[in-house]
Amino acid sequence: MEFTPEQEMLRESVRAFAAKEMPDGFAREWDIKGEPPLETYQRFADAGFMGVGIPEQYGGQGGGIVEVAIVLHELSRAMMSFAIMVYRSAIHASGGLQIYGTEEQRERFLPGIASGQYKFCFSLSEPDAGSDAFNLKCRAVRDGDQYVVNGTKMWNSFARHADYVLLATRTSDEPKKQDGITFFVVDLSSPGIEITPVETIGERASGTNMVAYTDVRVPAANILGTEGQGHRNLQANLERERFSSLPINLGPMEAILEEAIEYANTREQFGQAIGRFQAIQHMLADVAVDVNIARTLTWDLARRIAAGEQCALEVSMAKLWISEAMMRASYTGMQVMGGYGYTLDSNMQLHWRNARLGTIGAGSSEIQRNIIARQIGVGRNPS
Ligand SMILES: Cc1cc2nc3c(=O)[nH]c(=O)nc-3n(C[C@H](O)[C@H](O)[C@H](O)COP(=O)(O)OP(=O)(O)OC[C@H]3O[C@@H](n4cnc5c(N)ncnc54)[C@H](O)[C@@H]3O)c2cc1C
Repeated sequence: MEFTPEQEMLRESVRAFAAKEMPDGFAREWDIKGEPPLETYQRFADAGFMGVGIPEQYGGQGGGIVEVAIVLHELSRAMMSFAIMVYRSAIHASGGLQIYGTEEQRERFLPGIASGQYKFCFSLSEPDAGSDAFNLKCRAVRDGDQYVVNGTKMWNSFARHADYVLLATRTSDEPKKQDGITFFVVDLSSPGIEITPVETIGERASGTNMVAYTDVRVPAANILGTEGQGHRNLQANLERERFSSLPINLGPMEAILEEAIEYANTREQFGQAIGRFQAIQHMLADVAVDVNIARTLTWDLARRIAAGEQCALEVSMAKLWISEAMMRASYTGMQVMGGYGYTLDSNMQLHWRNARLGTIGAGSSEIQRNIIARQIGVGRNPS
């Protein structure tokens, strides 16, 4: 894909920010701490990057999905977890507010996202509602001009450090479980919210949490989208959400290839660089093929979504493919680096741990295959 001079400039400035603020070792350091680098997040926002994808009238820099993808790609090369934190606000919140929020909500929240004042997270999953997400039970009951929320949410990334959560609740029981779902923007400092960290093997900097809601009062004005239509609202932004897995995986895949090539060309065994062994050359040739496909898919889909094309099927296919390609790349990268790749001093082990979530989160590989199979008509009732 051809980028405009402005898009190239954006890419260079995000890359320069990441090189200065997230040097080698930075991602590993915050991963081990299990904490997000919030001061860096604020400097990122101060540089104007959180405003990418937000119209100027709401304090943003303008730009659309291509520009947001450029930001996520460059950030994720340096630190995948940081890109995922940004994605929660830039795609889930900012995208949701722009696509199905009210004008009052856009004016209330978008400038805060652009300035870094408001950090968002997203909460759909529950202990008994994972892949079957619309089986959710967290309940919101109207009481005057407020709703009272009770329930438990699971796997909520970044909830301990975010200011707001986009919360999926059930506001009515309907014959179809995807009906009766309502999204709220909930202030995470509200009384009645208890956040318990969950230890994970990857994505540790943004943190994963269980969040319990006990009689939490939320203004009715904080309903995002239409009451009872959360499923449809979610669908409206789903393509952009799933698409984001492409730039977020492309960045680390490129970093894996570069690091593994550098290592293969310098590490000597049997009197020569291991990169001179054909076995190693072929492994890295395969990663290079995957990186090339990932690049083509990412920018082709970015262009098509920006042009308003419906590409839900292609986005599901691409999400499925890239999450598995990222696992292959990190597995191979570690194999090439031998024991060093397995140590905590190496980036490769972090790529490998982070990669594992890709085929589980945001619709597992099995769920993507179900969606694809349905769309291509396999298994349908004979007519
Ligand atoms: C680190 C981490 C961070 C997360 N962050 C968030 C977040 O911020 N917000 C949020 O809402 N959620 C988040 N999630 C939840 C994530 O989206 C779910 O883990 C995911 O949807 C899968 O649900 P589950 O873990 O309950 O697995 P289950 O749904 O129990 O699935 C278990 C296995 O069964 C398979 N399976 C289930 N149903 C089918 C089927 N119909 N056909 C074939 N196979 C099937 C699955 O593919 C999987 O292999 C996060 C998860 C993790 C691990």
